[in-house]
Amino acid sequence: MKGRVIKSTGSWYTVMVENQHVQARLKGKFKQDDLKLTNPIAVGDWVEMEEELGQATAVIRSILPRENYIIRKSTRKQHFSHIIASNLDQAMLLVTMEQPRTSFGFIDRFLVSTESFRIPALLVVNKMDLYGSTEKGKKWLKELHEIYEPLGYQVIEISAEEDRDLPQKFQDLLKDKSTLISGHSGVGKSTLLNRLVPQAAQPTKQVSKFSSKGVHTTTFAELFELPAGGDIIDTPGIKEFGILDIEENELSHYFPEMRAYLGQCKFHNCRHVNEPGCMVMQKLEEGLIHPSRYTSYLNILHEEDTHR
Ligand code: GDP
Ligand code: ZN
Repeated sequence: MKGRVIKSTGSWYTVMVENQHVQARLKGKFKQDDLKLTNPIAVGDWVEMEEELGQATAVIRSILPRENYIIRKSTRKQHFSHIIASNLDQAMLLVTMEQPRTSFGFIDRFLVSTESFRIPALLVVNKMDLYGSTEKGKKWLKELHEIYEPLGYQVIEISAEEDRDLPQKFQDLLKDKSTLISGHSGVGKSTLLNRLVPQAAQPTKQVSKFSSKGVHTTTFAELFELPAGGDIIDTPGIKEFGILDIEENELSHYFPEMRAYLGQCKFHNCRHVNEPGCMVMQKLEEGLIHPSRYTSYLNILHEEDTHR
């Protein structure tokens, strides 16, 4: 029996097998892969199972190779990582200009993470009803589009609470895809999830699951199927994936606009900070790299320094 893990409680897994939910667990020997993980199985994993004799449950025997995954450092065990989700088609960051404000620096950290995990990312601006037509709002939105779209990140605008129908373009982007959703607390993740996943389609009939108040009981991800096809993977309680083990001279690889010029600096190990003959700094001066992105690059580079 083959299925996809949609929920994990640590010892039991809910696995979707052709529209049926099967409760499964690990038992006896289970072949781990090379990753040092605190949790062997993640939401999004495809697994092979055997039914338990005389019971409605199943035993997981193996994981099918993961196409990709998102992990972060375990807070408890050094040198171990926690796998958050796997087999993702894309990652969506929900952002807002106010209530709360999402900084470009936060967006850039998210994009560096998704680039390093090789997962396409998109930015979804929520609460458009609040600032979509104010001068300040228009200016902010213009900048957001100007910075991120040329880099290949789509920017889509919604009002999760106010839209009668969510924009077609947005719905099309989600269709038949496995999408991870992330964002600051308060940006409207729960509101959007409630819109996208009608009651009937929810694996758990717990409305409170999507409430922003006092939920942070779990850091396990959960997969919700979309009625039109595809699914959304929510990561409750996870603010940031963090930027894992990125080497100093690797960081610029995760900035698409810098990636284009790599190997063109005078020094092969150029950090693009103050080295002579730096192509990245030249392109910054020529206006081909946005100053806000370059600032984020420096901030991440220096933060990483302090971790060494
Ligand atoms: P979460 O913490 O990301 O899950 O955020 P919630 O979904 O709980 O939303 C936080 C607050 O923002 C709630 O008071 C929502 O009613 C409000 N909210 C969500 N979406 C919108 C929107 O499109 N427009 C406005 N004005 N408020 C929204
Ligand atoms: Zn350089």
